[in-house]
Formats: sequence, C-alpha cells, structure tokens
Amino acid sequence: AQDNATLLARRQAALPRGVGQSHAIFASHARNAEVWDVEGRRFIDFAGGIAVLNTGHAHPEITAAVQQQVEKFSHTCFQVVAYESYVELAERLNALAPGQAPKKTLFLTTGAEAVENAVKVARAYTKRPGIIAFGGGFHGRTNLTMALTGKVAPYKIGFGPFPGDIYHAKYPNPLHGVSAEDALESVRALFKYDIEAERVAAFIIEPVQGEGGFYAAPAEFISGLKAIADAHGILLIADEVQTGAGRTGTWYASEQWPVAPDLVTTAKSLGGGYPISAVTGRAEVMDAPAPGGLGGTYAGSPVATAAALAVLKVFEQEKLLERSQALGERLQAGLRRIAERHPEIVDVRGLGAMVAFELGKGGDIHSPDAETTRRIVAEATTRGLILLSCGTYGNVIRILVPLTVSDAVADEGLTIIADSVAAALA
Ligand code: PMP
Repeated sequence: AQDNATLLARRQAALPRGVGQSHAIFASHARNAEVWDVEGRRFIDFAGGIAVLNTGHAHPEITAAVQQQVEKFSHTCFQVVAYESYVELAERLNALAPGQAPKKTLFLTTGAEAVENAVKVARAYTKRPGIIAFGGGFHGRTNLTMALTGKVAPYKIGFGPFPGDIYHAKYPNPLHGVSAEDALESVRALFKYDIEAERVAAFIIEPVQGEGGFYAAPAEFISGLKAIADAHGILLIADEVQTGAGRTGTWYASEQWPVAPDLVTTAKSLGGGYPISAVTGRAEVMDAPAPGGLGGTYAGSPVATAAALAVLKVFEQEKLLERSQALGERLQAGLRRIAERHPEIVDVRGLGAMVAFELGKGGDIHSPDAETTRRIVAEATTRGLILLSCGTYGNVIRILVPLTVSDAVADEGLTIIADSVAAALA
C-alpha cells in the first residue's frame, strides 16, 4: 500500500480542491472508535465520520445484517419492487417520532435530500412557497439546501443564483448575546421586511446547530416559534441530520422540546455508516404530495434499510441512549477539567453526547480564536486523535465519538485533548 503523502499527492492531482480533507490520513481499516491508516498508525476517532458512527466503525451486528442482505439482493428500486425492511424501518421511526399524531416516513439517501424532501412536503401541504431558516444553520450542499444554509463561506461562495422565498432569522444563542426573545423578534421582523406570514410554508431549525457550533436552541425559543407557527399555519421542521439517531441522549433531540415538530429529518448515524436518510412527519402532512412525487432510484436502499434496522437493534441491546447521556457527562467533565487550566477555553457545552468546547483569544468569549482551534486539531492528529472543528467563526471543537466507545478509549482521547490544548497554547 502507498503511504499517506503519496496518496495525498495523487488525490491533489486527481480531485478538485473544493473537496476538502481535514486530516492528511488515508484509512486502512477501522473498528468501533479506532481507525488505522495506511502506514499502520492508530487513531482514536472523535469525529465519527461527521456524526455517522454513533454505533461505531464496522459494528459486527450491522456488518452481518448488510452481508445477509447483499446475499439476497442489493437493489430493486423500492418504487418498482418493494421490500419489507423499508416498511418495517418506517414503522419503527414513526413510533419513535415525537408527538401523538399518526406518522409516516419517506426514505432518501443523504441528509441534504431529506431536507429537500421535507421542504417539498411542507410546500405541497401548505400550498405556500416561503421557508424560514436560521443564521449559522447548515442544511446541505444542493441548490435548495445551500440556500437554506445560513453560512456563506465556504458553502455558498460562487454557487448562486439560489432559489427565492428563503429567509434567515437569528438563531437563539444566549452565550453570544442573542436571547430567545431576540431571535423570536427577528422572525417577526421577517414578516415585516420580507414576506407575509401567510406565504410561509415552514420554519426549519436544527435543535442543536451542528456545523454552526453546537449551540442548542433554548426550550422557550422553540415554544415561542411554535406559537408563531400555529398562529399563521406554518409548519415546524426539525433538521436532525446531525442531532438525530441518539446523539443527544434521546433518539430525536426534538423529543426534548416542549412541543413536537411537524416534520423531522434524519440521516448520518441512522444507517450506521450506510447511506440512508429519512423524513418522518405527521401522516396528514406527509400524504400531501401526489403519488410519484417523492422517491429516488436508490432512496431507501435495501442494504441501508437492513443496516438501519440493525442500528436500532444495537441501540436497544447496548442501551445506547443511556450511554449517550453518560458518555456526554464524562466528556463534559473531562473537558471542564482541561478548561480549568486554560482560560482560552471559554465554554464547554453539550446535549447528551453532542459535546463541544469553544476557544476565545485571551479568554474573551467575544474574540473567536480559529487559529488556536486549528492548532489544537493539528496537535491532536500528531498524537493519534481525530478531532473536528465547527462554528461560524471556526473556533469550536466538537466531539462525535461513537457511543459504543469504551470509557478507557474515551479517556485516552480526553488526555490527548489536554496535551494538544497545552501544546497549542504553549
Ligand atoms: N443537515 C444537517 C443539520 C447536517 O449537519 C448535514 C451534514 N453535516 C446536512 C443536513 C447534510 O447532510 P448530507 O451531507 O448527508 O447531505
């Protein structure tokens, strides 16, 4: 096998530079929360393939389910010849989704596609065009989801024009001076400045902003948003592509909301490493599009539905929702101990195992320190830990380690973070 440097050179010659790569590592194999590169080096994986591996790399139960499925058939196209696993997975997600109303589920392949389809469904049901998203949010890289995304660099630069009737309100972020009421006021302001409420189909919001920096929307904001939504016949879409599938201590983060969303999108860890996404929502809303209006050639692939059913089984067998809570507490406690020694760590936060810490210059929460953040990530790589940053200002380090990680490996990762922070600030 070739070494990392040789592969990187080939990659640079063969691929457009727009496809980023945060670590100059090429994988050889991976198990649970560990990855080995082509040079035989071991890494602890705190990135989890960007929130995809809540059940860890190559979980034996999931691998077995996939192997059994590919022996039978790998594709029929569900809209042509159907299969039970798609229906069963829909039934399972319908039962898990928050709210008392009957639910229905549609499967797609990527998170962006789930978001696109939630918007299609919302527009078909309300017969309205407008969508209100939030600043700092991330919803995908397709044309519609780029427009919904509330971050210009690097996601939107050079890629317009974008579709119309999409607006951004402020995401509530009390830590940075945007109260729940400020954010609600910014929604009301859109109704004055940009679009009448009666033309808005839906609000789309991440319960915890993922790419935007692991900020959770306060409960009073969600209640207030729902009150505005109800007053004007607007739907509420929870984009749980990153928060869903048990990351936050419940299967859906919106289970922790004071009110239920009308539609919820999931992807990433739903498939345990196999590409599948879902839109789950009130049956009445989900049934608005006409027959043939929804679907896709690979949408709800039998390989991925088999994997997702195995993911749900692993969650039950290994009590991963409880684990998510306990692991989150362990990670936060470890990070707080590190923060005590380094005032430059201006915040440690988390919902379940969706945990992050934020860097501010000289300990000032209002001076985002992207440079130190980059150095910490690089120091961690040399010490054998894969970290990911996030945040509108690139000054947050997020932890998306598999929930199946052992305490010993999680603690080893925390020790490397401590060493990396010390080295980056030295
Ligand atoms: N929504 C959210 C909240 C996400 O975090 C992401 C991916 N980071 C997406 C949508 C897009 O998912 P995908 O990359 O699978 O299209």
